[in-house]
Formats: sequence, C-alpha cells, structure tokens
Amino acid sequence: MTTRHDTTTQLDALRVEIERRNPAQPEFHQAVHEVLETLAPVLAARPEFAEPGLVERLCEPERQVIFRVPWQDDRGRVHVNRGFRVEFNSALGPYKGGLRFHPSVNLGVIKFLGFEQIFKNALTGLGIGGGKGGSDFDPHGRSDAEVMRFCQSFMTELHRHIGEHTDVPAGDIGVGGREIGYLFGQYRRITNRWEAGVLTGKGRGWGGSAIRPEATGYGNVLFAEAMLRERGEDLEGQTAVVSGSGNVAIYTIEKLLALGANPLTCSDSSGYVIDDKGIDVDLLKQVKEVERGRISEYALRRGASARFVPDGRVWEIPADVALPSATQNELNETDAATLVRNGVKAVSEGANMPATPGAVHLLQQAGVAFGPGKAANAGGVAVSALEMAQNHARTAWSPARVEEELAGIMADIHATCHETAARYDAPGDYVTGANIAGFERVAEAMLAQGVI
Ligand code: GLU
Repeated sequence: MTTRHDTTTQLDALRVEIERRNPAQPEFHQAVHEVLETLAPVLAARPEFAEPGLVERLCEPERQVIFRVPWQDDRGRVHVNRGFRVEFNSALGPYKGGLRFHPSVNLGVIKFLGFEQIFKNALTGLGIGGGKGGSDFDPHGRSDAEVMRFCQSFMTELHRHIGEHTDVPAGDIGVGGREIGYLFGQYRRITNRWEAGVLTGKGRGWGGSAIRPEATGYGNVLFAEAMLRERGEDLEGQTAVVSGSGNVAIYTIEKLLALGANPLTCSDSSGYVIDDKGIDVDLLKQVKEVERGRISEYALRRGASARFVPDGRVWEIPADVALPSATQNELNETDAATLVRNGVKAVSEGANMPATPGAVHLLQQAGVAFGPGKAANAGGVAVSALEMAQNHARTAWSPARVEEELAGIMADIHATCHETAARYDAPGDYVTGANIAGFERVAEAMLAQGVI
C-alpha cells in the first residue's frame, strides 16, 4: 500500500529533479512546490494518480515557443523583444490563458503562470486547458502607434501556434482591450479568417463578452464573500485593502462598493493611495483607464479624504479583508504578520501568486481565511470560456446573464474547494482544496487519454 509518507518522498524527489532541469526559474519552482506539497494525500488515496509519469507529465509543458519580436518606435529605432507562449496542458480543452507584457517577463514567469492556469481552468469546470504567454515589452510610456506595431509583430509569429480549437490567448498584465484589438486585427489579416474564438477579451461590438473586463475582480470579491459566509459574516460594512490599480483592482473595488464594503486603498509601482471615504471608482477609472496615468494623480484630484504614500505598502493599513490584485510575491511574510496583527479576517488573491509561501502559511496558521488565486481569481478565465461559447454560437449574452453565470461558477468553485479540503482532512484550507480539486480533474482526463 502507498502511504502519504511514500508519496511525500516521491513528490520531494520530483521537485528536486524539476528544479535541476529548469534552472534559474524561481517563480516556476515556487508554483510547482506550492502544488506538490499539497498532493500527497490524494496520491495516497488514489494510487492510479501515483502512477509513475503522471505528475511528471503534468509539470512538463506540452510545448514552449520562444520567438523574436522586432518592432520600430516612433523615431524609427528598432527594438528587439522576446515573445513566449507556453502551451502547458490540453487534456481538458484548448490551451487557455493570458498574455503578459511587462519588463519582468521571462520563461520562468510564463511557466509559473501557465502551470497555475492548468489548475485554475480545471476548477472552472469548463473545457479549457492551460497556457500562458507574453513578452518583456514594456507598454508604459509607449504611444498607441508603437503598441500597435509591437502587437502586429508579436502576432506575426504567434498566429501559427494559436487557433480557436488549439490555443486561445487573452489579456493579463499590460494586455487589455487595446492590445487585444491590435492582436486580433493582425491575426485576421494574416489568416484571412473571422475566427472570433481565437482570442478573448475582445471589444463588445466585435465578439467580446459582456462582463469580461469586470470578471476577475468581481469573481474575487464573490469568493472572499463566500469565505466570510462560512464564518457567519459577509462583506457589508467591512473595510478592505486592495493593491494594484489595473483591471483586476478596479473591478474588485467596484464590486466591494456594490456589496456595501469600504475599499480604502489602491496602488501602483510608485506607491499607494489611501482614501478614508473609500476609493471613488469612477475617478480611478478616469485616471488609470482613460488617461493611463499614475495613481498619485487620483490623490491630487480626490481632495482631502485621500493621500498618496510614495513607496509604501498597502498592507500597513488596518482592514477586515485584503485583496492583493497587483502581481506575484507582492505580499510577504512580514506583510502577512502586519495584516494579522491588525485583525484581518480574509485574504483573497486577485493576482496570480501574490502571497509568498511564507505569507500563506502564516495567514493560515493565524486562522485567516485564505483564498488562493487559482480559485479566487478564476472568474476572469471562466468568462473568457463563456466568451468562446458565445463566439462558437455566434451570439451575445446580456450582461445580466453573464453575471449570473459568473456568480454560479464562483459559488461552485468555492464549494468544490471547501468540500475537497474537508474530504482530505484539511477543513477550511482552500489551498489544499483548490490544488487537489484542480489536480483530480486534470489527472482523470490525462489518465483516460493515455501516455501522451
Ligand atoms: N490572465 C487571466 C488569468 O490569469 C485570464 C486568462 C484568460 O482569460 O484566458 O487567469
């Protein structure tokens, strides 16, 4: 009989081997470690999954594409960026996951994101595999024309690897509606196909889904509320700290306000804003989405209730709920200790892997409800899958319908994680619940489909 101890030893050996074969990819190592350390109980209980090769295959991308992206700036100077698409796992459906344009992007970052995406997408219950892509291109301070030329060059290579039944990219950090528009235009031009389902996050007028821009933030707030409900509370009247000021943060703040909570903060790489009256989401949208400005501008225009704190960390502001919505490893163990000291009740990840492993363990040990991104921020990719469904049917659902579907999916994900954690002797541990539930669904499909 296989025991938990045997499987733990097997998983530890696998982790060491993965680290050896994938040097200099710390974020990928971290993402793999965080999953493998929770799988021993399921491998012991279901020996068919402990079959040699299954977890190894899951940790090795099916395909990795790296390419040159040359483009010219407005003065005619040539720049050379690097493009990536990691097609991680297609057991459940076409590879699905966003594109990130940010100077920090490298192969290890894209692999961590692609690996997370496999489990996240499985948790949605929809037919989507896991993938991720992007570039070390920095869109900040670039003109629309420069961004367009970059996107066109990027798609000139990427188009041969994607397709509505093959691989369906979307947005992530640095890739929003503008970039998806330029990417889609170039794909359509090169392929001579109106293939709406090849990208998600499109504009409403040309195949995009209602509620897609809102979905990640809205979904995370619904997940946080579901965790609070387990403890006999809800979001009404609760204070919240939110980091970031991109798409996820903006719609997190909007949903918090709609549910009667008080979002106090938002941030960007220069610092954070604290607004005693609660963030004015319309002003934030104007500054960030329309003007593409810095959040210090928000504080200048908001008046006496708000101030900008350069270089500070939002986690120092006392609040009932924390929703990290910026980027990976933005909430460390020290931040977690500060949150606990200030009485935080729930932390729910809007970004991918924003809490470091030390922070996650500290929060869980302190009894704080912790929602891992794989579950809590799955609303974005879930509505992307609904966008694909609408594209296939050549139809468009109403905002009310999509929002209702999103709420149902988030409730199901919460229930699945909660039940799975309880089934594997880890009640209330959403990390274990999310990893095992996502793993079970992918592993069953991989086993059924043979060694490929
Ligand atoms: N980038 C988002 C995520 O991290 C969305 C991906 C998608 O919609 O395909 O899940």
